[in-house]
Amino acid sequence: MPELPEVETIRRDLQQEISGDTLIGAEFFGSRSAYSGDANAFIRQIAGSSIREIQRRGKYLLLALSNGEYIVVHLRMTGRLIIRQSDEPNDRLVRLVLRLASGRDLRLEDLRKFATVELLTVGGLAALFDRLGPEPLSSELTPERLGEILSHSRRGLKASLLDQSLLAGLGNIYVDEALFHARIHPDRPASGLSTAELKRLHQAIRHVLQAGIDTRGTTFSDYRDGLGRPGTHQYQLQVYRRTGEPCPTCGEPIIKTRVAGRGTHVCPRCQKL
Ligand SMILES: [Zn+2]
Repeated sequence: MPELPEVETIRRDLQQEISGDTLIGAEFFGSRSAYSGDANAFIRQIAGSSIREIQRRGKYLLLALSNGEYIVVHLRMTGRLIIRQSDEPNDRLVRLVLRLASGRDLRLEDLRKFATVELLTVGGLAALFDRLGPEPLSSELTPERLGEILSHSRRGLKASLLDQSLLAGLGNIYVDEALFHARIHPDRPASGLSTAELKRLHQAIRHVLQAGIDTRGTTFSDYRDGLGRPGTHQYQLQVYRRTGEPCPTCGEPIIKTRVAGRGTHVCPRCQKL
């Protein structure tokens, strides 16, 4: 599922392509709507607004509109937001089409249909942000702040790093990669890290997320960028989906275990429990 680097890649594409464009209409498709409210009210509300800016918070994409509201999209498992020419036929996966004055569409395509769309005011957005931890790439997150966040968690390290209310944007792929880079086992208690380990983990989180952005995200099957293209970060992963292959550091085969209910990849020699 798309994590921070994938959502940030889409954000940059959309910012370049459609900021300043005007929404002239919208259409929802499928039996289960991506928007939980009244679809007709949504369409009336947004029509005629221009897109001021595309923003991101954690794994949420925000279209800031000239009417002061925000279209907030979470792609969940298999959602994609792709710009297409409006005369291009609709894919069967399309759940929502936002029509643009430039003759293009922004289409939400979603195989599993878990993606969500909300229309929020500034107040609604603030309430959403309050439920999220800090942005891992912001200067707000220091090794000390990371230590403080983890020291209050009674759970394991991986479960804590996946918790969006503690830290926003990480998912299964980048948590496994970050813990490998930091040489820390995912099953360690979150509150038990030394100062040196916190420093390594902080650096590793930023490193893997930035590398993911630089290579335009990880595509195994569903993820596509804002123009429908796959990312290339899957070719740079060190442990994720490399079960049985040699550890890039020590040569020991990577193993797959289960931590926090998720398939988890570790080097048993570099990441001792
Ligand atoms: Zn190793």
